[in-house]
Amino acid sequence: MDKKCSGEESNWLEVEEAARCTGKKAPIVNPRRWSSAANAMAVALIMTIPPILFIFSGRLDAPAVWIKSTVAGLGARGESSKKLDVLLGGLLLPGFDEQSCASRYQSVYYRKNMTRSPTPYLIDRLRRQEALQRRCGPGTDAYRRASDRLKSGVKGVDTVDGCSYLVLLSYRGLGNRILAAASAFLYAMLTGRVLLVDRGKTMGDLFCEPFPGTTWLLPLDFPLQGYRDLGEDAAESYGNVTLRNETGGSSEHRFVYMHLDHAASVENKLAYCDDHRQFLHRVQWVVMRTDVYIAPILFLNPAYQQELHRMFPRKDSVFYIVSRYLLHPTNDVWGMVTRFYDSYLKSADERLGIQIRVFVKDDKPVQHILDQILACTSQERLLPGVLPSAGGAPPPPAGARSKAVLVTGLNGWYHDSIREMYWRSASANGEVVSVHQPSREEHQRMFHRMQDMKALAEMYLLSMTDKIVTSGWSTFGYVGTALGGLTPYIMIKPEDEQVPDPPCRRAMSMEPCAQGPPYFECTRKEVDKLLDTGNLVPHVRACEDMSWGLKLIEPISEKDV
Ligand code: GDP
Repeated sequence: MDKKCSGEESNWLEVEEAARCTGKKAPIVNPRRWSSAANAMAVALIMTIPPILFIFSGRLDAPAVWIKSTVAGLGARGESSKKLDVLLGGLLLPGFDEQSCASRYQSVYYRKNMTRSPTPYLIDRLRRQEALQRRCGPGTDAYRRASDRLKSGVKGVDTVDGCSYLVLLSYRGLGNRILAAASAFLYAMLTGRVLLVDRGKTMGDLFCEPFPGTTWLLPLDFPLQGYRDLGEDAAESYGNVTLRNETGGSSEHRFVYMHLDHAASVENKLAYCDDHRQFLHRVQWVVMRTDVYIAPILFLNPAYQQELHRMFPRKDSVFYIVSRYLLHPTNDVWGMVTRFYDSYLKSADERLGIQIRVFVKDDKPVQHILDQILACTSQERLLPGVLPSAGGAPPPPAGARSKAVLVTGLNGWYHDSIREMYWRSASANGEVVSVHQPSREEHQRMFHRMQDMKALAEMYLLSMTDKIVTSGWSTFGYVGTALGGLTPYIMIKPEDEQVPDPPCRRAMSMEPCAQGPPYFECTRKEVDKLLDTGNLVPHVRACEDMSWGLKLIEPISEKDV
């Protein structure tokens, strides 16, 4: 039998191949139509479809995946009859074309209920930002005038049209780019700027437009010559501008470039302490390059503390809320997410995500990483042990609990080893363990469209699990965790090819770690004294996996009871 059309697919290629067997793409179900009457109609339709597909495909077994995903679309977590709040308590606006971005309306059916709610104040700020994006964004007269001024080199134009802009340059892996997008959005809101994202090669393939009635993608005819090559030595870099002009002469420049790479110089990291109202606000255009999640660092700047506190009274869910507002995978990516989820994860009693990122040359399999994964899942009772294989084991009792394990990683060896373990031997507690990995790309490829799409789909799949184990230092893991509102078990990065003791540790919060933060305090700016910035305020602490990184937590005394 041709496995590709057997309905037993276990990775992307096979799922896609099977979809081709049906001659159809899995349709995306419109949640507005998820009334029980519509459910009944859809089920009736499905009942009639196999023969039709059979006629076209000539194979009885071909439609398996398509049918599975359609049925599953009627309620991924068994909530088919409940109408859920797809607008997430006012976080999202109604009125978008649902067909053009299904994830915006469907993700609530695939994820747990929001564990943190947006405050009315944040919702109001979001509506104001949307209005600003529409009033000043691409296609408006205000945008045309602003880009003409940038092109012709007019300087010092602080309040023209009431429109100023933040251009984000995307770079590095997708995890970094997603953290950068959330960070830039937060910074744009804090500073009253329109956010425009340089699309790089893949941004438009990955995410829907977040703001109604406008675009967040930087127009292709953006007039700043060579802007993608800006580096920290640029004359317009924040470090250079402030060094040359201590009296605050930003108006001498037609734009300022914020170089916030994790390894940026101290002078450039001073931008984190900028009180935008006194200095940068005189510049209409700011270009930012960052690979870092800067939210914890912004919480250290007195100029923003009060506003951030009003927007996010709970500090441990900033990315979670921002990402649910801002990031909605395109239909192509969302189709990959839902087809895989519905086929392999949906019916399990429990889902465990294991995100494996090994920072070794060539991404070769490494035994001590497998040992670390197994030590962690055993220590935290996330996976059962196995019985000795000799002598044969009885079949699992009827009604045994099932656990689906989603493994993500560039290499397939870890997945294969864990799956084989539960194939060769029965689990010690009778649980039925199935192990799935959507892709095995072997090597990281920068700005590769399909790899980025798979990576994004896998981050979303991780976010749909119930518990998650991640690899320390990995922004891929940070995103998968925080999207789902999950508090991860983080595997500490091994130092010396040994399993660390302990192999993993429960994180303090779901928030991503800010790698490469500044080590000075904003009010004193004593850049030559190294300060422990993880000790300045109770809600910013050193990361579990990187002692020099910073992360947002909810201090015990402030946690809601
Ligand atoms: P980090 O390097 O772990 O911080 O994560 P990034 O996402 O920034 O960069 C790693 C890149 O490698 C990703 O964007 C993907 O292109 C690729 N990659 C790493 N792990 C995986 C994986 O599990 N699945 C897929 N599809 N790609 C991965």
